[in-house]
Amino acid sequence: MPSRKRQLPEIPPELVGTVHITPIDAIYNWARMRSLWPIFFGLACCAFEMIGAFGARFDPSRFGMEIMRASPRQADLMIVNGTVTKKMLPQVVRLYNQMPEPKYVMAMGACAISGGPFKEGYNVVSGVDKFLPVDVYVPGCPPRPEAILHGFLTIHAKMQRESIRNLRWYRKGEETEPVPVPELGPDLVDWRLTEQIEAMNPAENSAER
Ligand code: SF4
Repeated sequence: MPSRKRQLPEIPPELVGTVHITPIDAIYNWARMRSLWPIFFGLACCAFEMIGAFGARFDPSRFGMEIMRASPRQADLMIVNGTVTKKMLPQVVRLYNQMPEPKYVMAMGACAISGGPFKEGYNVVSGVDKFLPVDVYVPGCPPRPEAILHGFLTIHAKMQRESIRNLRWYRKGEETEPVPVPELGPDLVDWRLTEQIEAMNPAENSAER
């Protein structure tokens, strides 16, 4: 397989140590990595562990991450930190849609990953990844702050591999579709599944129309 490493121009010997040449992706990704701002909201007990992880002892400031934003418009990391109930999910999806691209999602704890101890409970979503594109899963009940920090570093590593040339949100003419906000009735309605649901009972659906 050919090497994907790009050749950088040579630096004249008299400028070595004074001039550094690096791809724009490296600077761009470094700047994004060191200013990843999480949205400040909590869903359940995992939220307290997340708050603990943001204290001085574990110090996310060293990654430029200490500013938790109260507005989704200023945040680019969503930490889904606890049990996602069916009643709460539309709000979580709405917040995600309001965050600007490029954005990332961390599923923190067993509940956010799979429903945890409440899996298949009548009011609990069995994993937030059924609705949002999760980038990193941090298991535990709750995960320790060290695990959360490891989750941050994993997202940083993911960002480091991205390139400004092929990220979806920089391509002209390719709009990022928002995730349709599910509707809570007797159960959740996921609007992305409308066609599949209609196909399961075509006779009834055509009669309704
Ligand atoms: S994973 Fe455990 S600690 Fe976290 S929200 Fe669920 S029950 Fe609470």
